[in-house]
Amino acid sequence: MFNIECSMIYAQDEKVDIDEWQVMKVEAAKDPFEKRDQFTINFANYTKEEWHYPLPGARVTSPFGGERHHGGTDIKTFAGDTTRAAFPGEVILSGPYFAYGNCVILRHANGLETLYSHHSRNLVKVGQWLQPGDPVGIEGRTGRATGDHLHFETRVKGQAFDSSRIFDHESGKLIRQVFVVTKQKNGTLKFASQKVK
Ligand SMILES: [Zn+2]
Repeated sequence: MFNIECSMIYAQDEKVDIDEWQVMKVEAAKDPFEKRDQFTINFANYTKEEWHYPLPGARVTSPFGGERHHGGTDIKTFAGDTTRAAFPGEVILSGPYFAYGNCVILRHANGLETLYSHHSRNLVKVGQWLQPGDPVGIEGRTGRATGDHLHFETRVKGQAFDSSRIFDHESGKLIRQVFVVTKQKNGTLKFASQKVK
């Protein structure tokens, strides 16, 4: 367990073939606060094609936060299993990054970013566009990790929040809710959820 920050890292400008629709979505997602201080994601309307649990069958070995200020959620299956893109998005970082080991960050059209680390091998390149469920990397223990697992983070503009606010890790399901992210005056983010009937 560790407290690491890679919010400073933003990737190279390397681009691969992505169609116009995707470019538009990438542009739209670049700064979710560009024109306002709040955005919402209606997860209640997401179909099963629009999201994917990052490591199916996993159990949580270390939750977010706690005394050690853990910056992500550690989830585990078996070494060699494949981690999966949570939402549609662009790869903005793929490479070794200090304690994270082999790390991948995706920027999603919905304004979120997800981070996958300790891979024995990354399977994606910067600029690639992924669909939910597409392979991201191979579960491993590179970087500062005591055993094979996935250190998974959910973020907005580099600020991590508890992934269990959007994923029920027990069932491996997305939580049906309207998720509201607000940028406060001091720059920190507030996360709220509205129940859906
Ligand atoms: Zn971790």
